[in-house]
Amino acid sequence: MDFDTIKEKLNKAANYTVRKSGEVVNVAKLKIKETELESRLENLFTAIGRAMYTEHQEETDSSVEISGILEEIDKLKSELYECKEEINKLTKMNTCPGCGKTVSDEAKYCSECGTNMKTE
Ligand SMILES: [Zn+2]
Repeated sequence: MDFDTIKEKLNKAANYTVRKSGEVVNVAKLKIKETELESRLENLFTAIGRAMYTEHQEETDSSVEISGILEEIDKLKSELYECKEEINKLTKMNTCPGCGKTVSDEAKYCSECGTNMKTE
């Protein structure tokens, strides 16, 4: 084995390691983001409940406040979906279009709701 071949092999190995650990970091980061988005969504759902109850109790109109929160929820939901998609890409998983569950890339049908995963 000549020197150039060894050097090339070492370079390949180094690149592989960097790429691999890069992916791990990305997934970890995305998982944190996912958890953050989910807890923000929970807070917004709580806020809707509170606004509705206040409306009932004080006989005030909170519809503007509530529709603002609903819009925020829509925004967070699509952000969360993108985040999940990114994680799935890196971990070779799919999101079921039927129920939103994470399913293995290999699975033909969703284990939760039976949706056909191979229709594209
Ligand atoms: Zn499903």
